Amino acid sequence: MTHCRDPKQCAKKAFNRERRLFDRLSFAEELLHEFRMNLLEGQGVLLESFHSERRQVDRLYSKRDIRSAIEEGWAIDYSEFEGRIEITVMSYIRVSLGVYRPIHVVCGITNPKLWVIITVKDPSERPWRWDEKYEKKICFCNIEV
Ligand SMILES: [Zn+2]
Repeated sequence: MTHCRDPKQCAKKAFNRERRLFDRLSFAEELLHEFRMNLLEGQGVLLESFHSERRQVDRLYSKRDIRSAIEEGWAIDYSEFEGRIEITVMSYIRVSLGVYRPIHVVCGITNPKLWVIITVKDPSERPWRWDEKYEKKICFCNIEV
């Protein structure tokens, strides 16, 4: 079982992350809501890059899973760099009766009608990195699995 290698440093980073996201997540939710409305009206396009296609096969999420995550999920991360916005949407996918698997979909927002899927991940594959709900990142160590 993998663990955080620097709990003190990661706790500090987690604190700063929460502070940074404090007012950004409600803005991310607004963007997500707007995009969902566009999807419903047939005006929105959810584009998958080659990388996410590969990820999806690797990690056994279907296109339908990704779409339903966007339709039903909620924003857990927001970042903006040089005018480029990225939002991580979290949801759960039902794998069998009463069994759910968490999903994180990282999207690049080009405009309110075009979101590009950057990557799709199952946070439960890296449990040390997240809180128990897989919403808050708590470890920032560069550990590959
Ligand atoms: Zn760590």
